[in-house]
Amino acid sequence: AGLTALDERIAGCRRCPRLVAWREEVARTKRAGFADRDYWGRPVPGFGPADARLLIVGLAPAAHGGNRTGRMFTGDRSGDVLYAALHEVGLASQAGAVSVDDGLELYGVRVTSPVHCAPPANRPTPEERDACRPWLVSELELLRPTLRAVVVLGAFGWQATLPVLDAAGWSVPRPRPVFGHGARVTLGGGLRLFGCFHVSQRNTFTGRLTPAMLRDVLRDAAGAAGL
Ligand code: SF4
Repeated sequence: AGLTALDERIAGCRRCPRLVAWREEVARTKRAGFADRDYWGRPVPGFGPADARLLIVGLAPAAHGGNRTGRMFTGDRSGDVLYAALHEVGLASQAGAVSVDDGLELYGVRVTSPVHCAPPANRPTPEERDACRPWLVSELELLRPTLRAVVVLGAFGWQATLPVLDAAGWSVPRPRPVFGHGARVTLGGGLRLFGCFHVSQRNTFTGRLTPAMLRDVLRDAAGAAGL
């Protein structure tokens, strides 16, 4: 079974009781505010082609972004920043992402997260991170034939993703590389890993992460991936 089948299985996952309750509660109580659309309220699978050469790993879907629209970084400000940058460096067909049927296409890039359900306060527990890990392992195994580079947005994603990459056979140097914006590591097997501050509103509103900083990382990672 390929990525599409994996995505369908992820969308039906109910492994984490707290997150199942939260995502459904948000969908139930907030749906009224978005009356023109169906509220997804389920796990959000990765988005992008099955033969991606570059993978972007975030943290988890936002309550009213991915959890509402059913697509990664779609319908929230973090996504506006991310997809605008991807579009500017030639990796996305358009700058905006508002809904699953907005026509957005990614070129050689897939976007995913180590936790697929929106958590309260954007903070998954270590148990939830670990419970969701097998989905990322499966996704990486399916991407393995084409994957050349990974951009991790933020320290949570970095810490969640390194052990998975290591277990999947792209050996991570010891001591484990520390997260930072601009961190670059070449893993066993030649996979190139890039650290970038998360595109959260907290980072982008304060200028900790500027659009130019994000574009620079994406451009370098795309180059490393042969895109
Ligand atoms: Fe399943 Fe992951 Fe959602 Fe937990 S966070 S319910 S493991 S999809």
